Amino acid sequence: MKSLTKKSGKNTDILQDAHGRIINYLRISVTDRCDLRCTYCMPAEGVPQLNHSEILRFEEIEAVVRVGAELGIKNARITGGEPLTRAGITSLIQKLSVIPGLKDLSITTNGVLFSKMGFPLREAGLRRVNFGISSLNSDIYYKLTRSSRLPEALEGLEAAIKLGFEPIKLNVVVIRGINEDLSDFITLVKEKPVHVRFIEYMRIGAADYSSSFVPASEIRRQIGAAVELEPLNAPVGCGPIQNAWRVSGGQGSIAIIAPVTEHVCEYCNRLRLTADGHLRPCLFSADEIDIKPALRPAFNTEMLKSLFVEATQKKPGNLRETTDFGRSMSQIGG
Ligand code: SAM
Ligand code: SF4
Repeated sequence: MKSLTKKSGKNTDILQDAHGRIINYLRISVTDRCDLRCTYCMPAEGVPQLNHSEILRFEEIEAVVRVGAELGIKNARITGGEPLTRAGITSLIQKLSVIPGLKDLSITTNGVLFSKMGFPLREAGLRRVNFGISSLNSDIYYKLTRSSRLPEALEGLEAAIKLGFEPIKLNVVVIRGINEDLSDFITLVKEKPVHVRFIEYMRIGAADYSSSFVPASEIRRQIGAAVELEPLNAPVGCGPIQNAWRVSGGQGSIAIIAPVTEHVCEYCNRLRLTADGHLRPCLFSADEIDIKPALRPAFNTEMLKSLFVEATQKKPGNLRETTDFGRSMSQIGG
């Protein structure tokens, strides 16, 4: 197999894809299970669950991240499903936070369990957190998540602020006719050190909101009309700087993630690892590489390295549209 790794000055292998992009970010789904049922993510009855035996054990995830870090993975994000529902998640954070070469470790959570778990997670080495809370209004939150747990999610957000997590990001999937009024979030950014990211809805195996799609351009117009925006000239966290602003006089910032209308494949630096041990080269493609043969029955470092290279090699250059994601969002991890 043609190697797509190149040596850096520090003799660290770096994953580089066929389009010249350096791959240094791994998004790791640790479970397909969730305690919410967001309409934009999964159907009310949930999605068929993986067998426990298929889900990677923590020591397997740790081994994958160690090898990834040797190959140049510098940023890892834990996601799900809802990662905080996975028993013992704090111990995984502890294992990952000491991996040499891994510079940034973060988690994406719906926040419902965070007020109880924030402290042990911080003690375990977690410093950055993204919350997925698409409304601050309890009726709208109920419509979006089929749940009344907004107070718990907001307690989680407050706990993160008090515990000094930095940066704290807040994902908001914008749906016309439901949560398209973004004014509560603009107020939040003015008052709290929270970086809100408005996300265009992607149709991935859940309720079809295509006719309620709100494009980035419209989101930008709405926030621009409501508040004075100062373009950010440095990224918050490790994403690319685009569509991101500090709010005049505010503590936080606003960003727009536009995977549908402004899909910026040229900046893509990531691979995804599903809970059942598949590397996904691209969110928009159902193409996956099963890495379990490199983990079971025995761990095989060389095989795993070549599977990382293969996944990197399979990253498409520019995939703007798809009809087949292969899995629901809760199974991929966002
Ligand atoms: N349960 C956690 C949460 O809700 O943040 C982590 C997993 S969830 C799959 C990760 C992120 O995916 C969510 O924060 C949400 O913003 C985003 N997401 C889910 N469904 C989406 C959709 N259909 N379109 C765009 N973003 C979506
Ligand atoms: Fe669960 Fe997150 Fe999907 Fe909502 S977006 S159903 S919290 S995995």
